[in-house]
Amino acid sequence: MGANEKSTGAREELHGDDASFPCSLAHAPGAQAVSAPMQLIRDIHESCRAAGRPAVSFEFFPPKTDEGDRNLMEKTLPALLALKPDYCSMTYGAGGSTRDKTIGMVDRIQREHGLTAMMHLTCVNATRAELGEVLADAKKRGIMNILALRGDPPGGTGEWIATEGGFQYSSQLVAFIRELGGYCIGTAGFPEGHIAQKAGGLADWDFLVGKIQAGADFVITQLFFDNEDFFRFHDYVVKKVGRPVTIIPGMLPILSGKQTKKFTAMCGSRLPAPFVARLDALGDDDAAVIEYGIEYCTRQCEALLKFGVPGLHFYALNKPHSTSAVVRNLGLAR
Ligand SMILES: Cc1cc2nc3c(=O)[nH]c(=O)nc-3n(C[C@H](O)[C@H](O)[C@H](O)COP(=O)(O)OP(=O)(O)OC[C@H]3O[C@@H](n4cnc5c(N)ncnc54)[C@H](O)[C@@H]3O)c2cc1C
Repeated sequence: MGANEKSTGAREELHGDDASFPCSLAHAPGAQAVSAPMQLIRDIHESCRAAGRPAVSFEFFPPKTDEGDRNLMEKTLPALLALKPDYCSMTYGAGGSTRDKTIGMVDRIQREHGLTAMMHLTCVNATRAELGEVLADAKKRGIMNILALRGDPPGGTGEWIATEGGFQYSSQLVAFIRELGGYCIGTAGFPEGHIAQKAGGLADWDFLVGKIQAGADFVITQLFFDNEDFFRFHDYVVKKVGRPVTIIPGMLPILSGKQTKKFTAMCGSRLPAPFVARLDALGDDDAAVIEYGIEYCTRQCEALLKFGVPGLHFYALNKPHSTSAVVRNLGLAR
């Protein structure tokens, strides 16, 4: 699949229409050049730990339209920056389809908003040499934080086939980036096991241990709705690695019942029965679903913080309202 070709992976399903911006928190600043030093995320985690507070980060996706770009840069980001987050990240479209857009947006966020931004990078449709070029381009722009992923098969489903001259697993990409040197590397973790892992969750968790041993500095997890899944996963991985590991839960304050059910089916995340019952009762009342999403996510985060997670990574879906509300509810807006 070429760089500009459209694709529909699970993450695109979650992102939906990037042009809508239903939030009242927004304000529109001019795009200003800000010169704040970019930090390595492992250093950010370290200083948060020393300060005795969790790191707060937000995930965005590259908008598909100019209007989406403006909403993200001029409304969503300023609204979320008011909370003083520690860093953010930008996804890499399924099939590597947003390569230039992703790197361009990460660059702009760092330059125009002075917020450390991490670039997601996948092995899809890329040789080792091409990945090396993307990483060199990132480094030239001061982008030193990379979330190293395998990516989903183009189209989001079907069998994964590695590109000739590329990598089969994300652990190889992690090792490659580590060998290049100078980058801070994140990797993906799946509290319920990865959907394509036929041998089960434990096998997937063992592969995560391999990714950490290959040189990943920290883990960000797939979304999940039952903290017990995270607790089991966390304790297993930390015990197997044999030293403390920075594992950051990925949190989704849900925005729509239908979209949540469709996306979680695609990525294999389980929805607890009482959660589904409440979603069914709320039906198409989107405003009520959003409020329930804020309440559920706040309770989930409170329990995770009590457990001692070193940070919270919010799937903000390029909309600030729900994520802002959860962060404020938790008293984490600085
Ligand atoms: C926080 C987060 C951010 C994401 N961002 C993006 C994004 O920006 N763009 C995008 O396209 N996708 C993204 N994804 C989705 C991710 O790319 C897919 O879920 C992908 O299928 C798995 O990626 P991975 O890096 O975990 O792959 P891997 O670690 O390579 O694992 C892929 C599969 O292979 C198995 N496996 C791993 N190592 C081995 C081994 N040594 N031997 C045998 N089997 C093995 C695993 O169990 C798993 O089933 C993200 C996921 C998360 C959790």
